[in-house]
Amino acid sequence: MSKVMLITGGSRGIGAATAVQAAEAGYDVCVNYANNADAAAEVVAECRASGASAMAVRANVAVESEVIDLFEETTAELGPISCLVNNAGILHEIARFDTFSVERLREVVDVNVIGAMLCAREAVRRMSTRHGGVGGSIVNVSSAASYLGSPNEFIDYAATKGAMDTMTIGLAREVADEGIRINAVRPGLIDTEIHTSAGLPDRVERLQANVPMQRGGTASEVADLILYLASDAASYVTGSLVNVSGGR
Ligand code: NAP
Repeated sequence: MSKVMLITGGSRGIGAATAVQAAEAGYDVCVNYANNADAAAEVVAECRASGASAMAVRANVAVESEVIDLFEETTAELGPISCLVNNAGILHEIARFDTFSVERLREVVDVNVIGAMLCAREAVRRMSTRHGGVGGSIVNVSSAASYLGSPNEFIDYAATKGAMDTMTIGLAREVADEGIRINAVRPGLIDTEIHTSAGLPDRVERLQANVPMQRGGTASEVADLILYLASDAASYVTGSLVNVSGGR
């Protein structure tokens, strides 16, 4: 049976690197995106070049009906989903906590927490042996921010990643005997476009001296870990939060 990976936020950065590596590893791939159809189409083309079946689906992970349609479309076109990579995430401008607006707080919680939970729920409904599924795995893309707290930068974002870590532990235990493994990766400073949303496109360069390994990481170094956790090589790994942060 072919392996199918659904990657939220697969059009750019860590999600795009994961999609390309998944295709190389023999998965058929669904690349979800929010706005950037051209970037998603490029990732799909790269996946197909490796011989995989691949598709792009626009869906805002914070909107329940769009998440359900995303899972339905993926299953209809590629077959049962064997792995969900809960990667879509947003970051707002660097700011002090005492300036945060309620709109900012709601948006980051909606996408990073509610979105990840809705996607995990849809995955469990389809993968769990309790619901007639054959099992599978979920990899949540959390952040080193969950244990650093991101003071003076984005405590709101850091707190959403703390929520993701807790969801990973709880849900992994809840469905451990239903054929589903759930783990989280916690990337440190990774060179992607997300830092532009924080108002600091050169954030990795500026902060890399604080990383014990003295450099930022690449999206493909995070994708390596995601692919490992998704694979049968990690068959006894569940409920784990794994840092990929150069020692930070
Ligand atoms: P990125 O380059 O900014 O890419 C973000 C991706 O998420 C894009 O594909 C974007 O789609 C998609 N997206 C954003 N909002 C969405 C929504 N509401 N619904 C569906 N898709 C949405 O980010 P990245 O750095 O690769 O980050 C990926 C994940 O890694 C995030 O969860 C982030 O928190 C986490 N992370 C990143 C770092 C880092 O240093 N880069 C460190 C720790 C953790 P469009 O292309 O359509 O906009």
